[in-house]
Amino acid sequence: MQPAYLPFNETQRLEALLELHILDTPADPQFDSFLAVVAESLNVPIATFTLIDEERQWHKAMVGLPARFQESPRASSLCAHVILAPDETLVVEDARSDARMKASPLVSGPPFIRFYAGHAILDESGFAVGALEIIDHSPRTLSDEDRTMLARFSRHASSLLRVHKLSYALRMQREVDGLTGLGNRLAFNRILEDAVARAKTDIAASLVGGKVVEGKLPEGLALLSVDIDGFKKVNDVHGHGFGDAILKDVARRLRNAIRGSDRLLRLGSAEFAILMAGPFLVGEPEATAQRIHAAFVTPFEMDDLTLQLNLSIGVALYGEQADTPVMLLQQAHRALADAKQAGPGQIRTTRDGAAGNLRSDRRMEEDLRNAIETEGFSIYWQPIVDLRREELHSYEALARWNRPDHGPVAPSTFIQVAERGDLMMAIDKVILRKACRAAASWTDTTGVSVNISPEWFLAGHLPDIVADTMRETSLDPSRLRIEITEGSLIRDFSRALKDIEALKAIGVQVTLDDFGFGLSSLSYLTEFPFDIIKLDGSFARHLRDNSRAIAVAQAAIELGHKLGIKVCAEGVEELWHLEFLEQQGCDLAQGYLFGRPSPIPQVPGRWGKAKSAGSTIAAA
Ligand code: C2E
Ligand code: MG
Ligand code: MG
Repeated sequence: MQPAYLPFNETQRLEALLELHILDTPADPQFDSFLAVVAESLNVPIATFTLIDEERQWHKAMVGLPARFQESPRASSLCAHVILAPDETLVVEDARSDARMKASPLVSGPPFIRFYAGHAILDESGFAVGALEIIDHSPRTLSDEDRTMLARFSRHASSLLRVHKLSYALRMQREVDGLTGLGNRLAFNRILEDAVARAKTDIAASLVGGKVVEGKLPEGLALLSVDIDGFKKVNDVHGHGFGDAILKDVARRLRNAIRGSDRLLRLGSAEFAILMAGPFLVGEPEATAQRIHAAFVTPFEMDDLTLQLNLSIGVALYGEQADTPVMLLQQAHRALADAKQAGPGQIRTTRDGAAGNLRSDRRMEEDLRNAIETEGFSIYWQPIVDLRREELHSYEALARWNRPDHGPVAPSTFIQVAERGDLMMAIDKVILRKACRAAASWTDTTGVSVNISPEWFLAGHLPDIVADTMRETSLDPSRLRIEITEGSLIRDFSRALKDIEALKAIGVQVTLDDFGFGLSSLSYLTEFPFDIIKLDGSFARHLRDNSRAIAVAQAAIELGHKLGIKVCAEGVEELWHLEFLEQQGCDLAQGYLFGRPSPIPQVPGRWGKAKSAGSTIAAA
């Protein structure tokens, strides 16, 4: 098929189309019944209400075509020809002898197009955004009368578009919270309903297909109900103007703490809701709630006032007990009430009341003990890249646990339970051994980083264990990096210093992980002989809008360089993060931009020239 030329006003035409907010919207009975009238009046088996997007034709309504035809490439559509001459009707009496169409699969195969007529549909400014099309399976002509009728119908189609645009604008007005620009309770009701319906079909599909997205559970939907503790008092004491300014900032912090695909809405004065669509890992909604809490650790500063706010968060999960919008909302409110009752700044999930929580923790602890016995953890590898050399630097080994009869559990969840049960050192030992064994089997000398929990510096004999593991696995110690967090240093300062020095004496490198996240003192850098410091991933996220994040990142890089310590940025997701870090002279980087943690070490995506260690490396 010969593709059509682009209309001379294509850019504006596409803008006009987008402003209609109609692409990919669900079926609309108004459009469907209009099209049924068109097909019947013009006596054709097939009719479509078609819009021409940048790359595709998309049917808002169809008569006589199965759903798989809803969208097809623009290059092979006749409609793209129709919009070039908006005042004329394009008629093809027999597609088999039409130069544009005869080679089209729609002619040689279903729906076996022979006769075609199309007339442009204009928006209110006169842009030809699509066409009204009629199609028949046998060749025929279009009478003058029918030609006039098709043109008239296409004008009617234009007015349908106007009505659609108007009702969209009205809905937006009704559904937006004027203060924060977020969706309001009306929007929430509609979005919640759609989300529950989608969760239902997604779960049904994954059960029927017997397949679940790799590493994820088909938990279709989570609803987080968020309330600012004591907000009424803020309004009472400081006035509504001040309260409004705080609310805007609260909305901004919430938005930064959630995933791009999560929906944030404002339901009441101090009440927000977050809808997370699955699939996600067990514990991921709770991890989001924790991330939100972390975003409120920094006090609000406004009008010379410093204000610390706490959030109560209730988490409800779509499931047997909550499979309708009303039930899910009730569950979220119940969890929020539980959280409030427990005091300010608490998170509760409905899945488990407090007692249930304890019981399920105990069971998880038991399963963790078994996993330690059987080395039942796996390792996901995430590349760390050298920004100067533009090559792979090393891999970080991240623990993963596929809990028997439950599926994958988020590290933040099982680590919390393991910490409570004093199991972290045992888990670290398993991961250390597995990671070193795997690295020793690689055909090159790429480095490997292993995370070590703070307990070691109170009760463990880390240097001895590491030395034993080096002997047992025959890994060259210079390839191993031990990652510790600041929490390890404060428990017993001199003990930590002694252990770190002993590790370095064996030839192992030491990395300070998550720098700047919690306690952050630049003085640690001068007092401990670190080889690498890793800037916590939250920095990357805040580089754009937080001058403190920029200042700390710059200071850490500068001080690191003065002390001969390499600086690694974590959580690098966007190109502009990378550009900023390169400008600042950051040495190393890790994040989704280069590669997600994966069961087999992958060569970092952005560095084509990176040496291809991954290809020769076997999975752990
Ligand atoms: P970490 O050591 O700071 O590891 C980096 C975490 O950030 C990993 O999460 C990784 O998946 C995630 N990440 C990496 N790149 C990006 C990115 O671009 N964007 C975002 N949003 N996240 C990114 P993960 O695997 O969930 O691990 C969480 C934490 O659990 C680790 O943080 C580490 O402190 C701990 N951990 C993992 N494995 C072990 C272990 O074997 N022993 C100990 N003690 N702790 C471990
Ligand atoms: Mg780490
Ligand atoms: Mg980290």
